[in-house]
Amino acid sequence: MLKKIKFIGKLYLYKLQGLLGLKRSDIMSVINDYYREDFKKIDTKDVAVILPHCLISDKCPAKFSKFDGILCKKCELCGCGRIYEFAEEKSYQFYISPSVGFTKRLSRRKNLKGIIGVACDYEIEKGIANEKITDRGVQLNGRRIKTQGIHLDVYDCVKNNVDWEAVKNLM
Ligand code: SF4
Repeated sequence: MLKKIKFIGKLYLYKLQGLLGLKRSDIMSVINDYYREDFKKIDTKDVAVILPHCLISDKCPAKFSKFDGILCKKCELCGCGRIYEFAEEKSYQFYISPSVGFTKRLSRRKNLKGIIGVACDYEIEKGIANEKITDRGVQLNGRRIKTQGIHLDVYDCVKNNVDWEAVKNLM
């Protein structure tokens, strides 16, 4: 119970920091820590690694599917393909999503119970403001999903990058 109260308190503190224009705490770590033990119990087949499309190479040869997002060909022009291979080894689902809205619909279509995701601070702030975050998971399109996330290292929407090893470590 104390753990839950602390978690809710940290979420409110994060929102308050934003309202007051103060430096925000690292809410991703707070959420990761809170969900981690339950997340580990989810069958990896019910978990998807979802990368944002801003990480793909400018010369990405992949096609786009309305159902599954960007269909990575593992061409090695960006790091997404290596994560895709690693996801397959661990029996995770893998997607590259064009938008947060797409990710939400995907989570419902694929009956996801967990997501390992990558996002920029802007998307994280929007997500915390708009989605219901409960002790049983983040509410996405009616599903409660346990998340484990990581920040983009660089994000100017042109040359975005992430610590690929850190993504693997989350997996
Ligand atoms: S590794 Fe996948 S996502 Fe990256 S450029 Fe190649 S096909 Fe596109």
